[in-house]
Amino acid sequence: MEDNHVIWHNGYITRSDRNRLNNHKSGLVWLTGLSASGKSTIAHCIERELFNQGIHTYVLDGDNVRHGLNSNLGFSREDRKENLRRIVELSKLFVDAGILVLAAFISPYREDRDYVRKRFDSDNFIEIYVKCSVEECERRDPKGKYKKARAGIIKNYTGISAPYEEPLNPDLIIDTEKLNIEDSVQSILELLYKRNFILVRTIRNI
Ligand code: ADP
Repeated sequence: MEDNHVIWHNGYITRSDRNRLNNHKSGLVWLTGLSASGKSTIAHCIERELFNQGIHTYVLDGDNVRHGLNSNLGFSREDRKENLRRIVELSKLFVDAGILVLAAFISPYREDRDYVRKRFDSDNFIEIYVKCSVEECERRDPKGKYKKARAGIIKNYTGISAPYEEPLNPDLIIDTEKLNIEDSVQSILELLYKRNFILVRTIRNI
């Protein structure tokens, strides 16, 4: 890339300062899985619980980000990569600002997810595989997208006409065909507790 003379300016306030002020660690919780596996549902339930615990959180969600920041991107391999690159940079800013980010993105390629992981310290990053078979996701189909993908109206649809590469070594697997929403949320809270993101491990308000 050509040298455009852009130089990073360090501020006086660091992420650790903000974490101390907020009284909790910031970081990125990355939820990957097929469409309709339950990523958004779980992310929003966790957010409500964390909010009630006084933790500063924000949910970044696939469809929402594609409405604005990434509205010029499609679903080709290249566009999916760029989509993810922008989300990672956005997440880094949020984490720097002291927020515990819950990111719900299909992110079907291992290479892309490895890229996300590498951009964060292991202390500030958690990968969760929200696991559910294509058959069950297709049965749920909350937004009617599988139906459209089967009919060929939506192209490159993960699980139907585009691949999903299962995570090989995620920090946690949530099988939403076996666990209900409450138990799914509870196991993630347990992990956040173990990894020192939160001080209270039980759900109080599902
Ligand atoms: P995604 O964000 O992965 O595309 P959504 O959260 O939008 O998925 O949709 C998942 C659907 O599956 C919702 O209708 C939700 O009620 C249902 N569901 C059933 N069991 C679970 C579970 N254990 N966890 C999360 N969602 C579940």
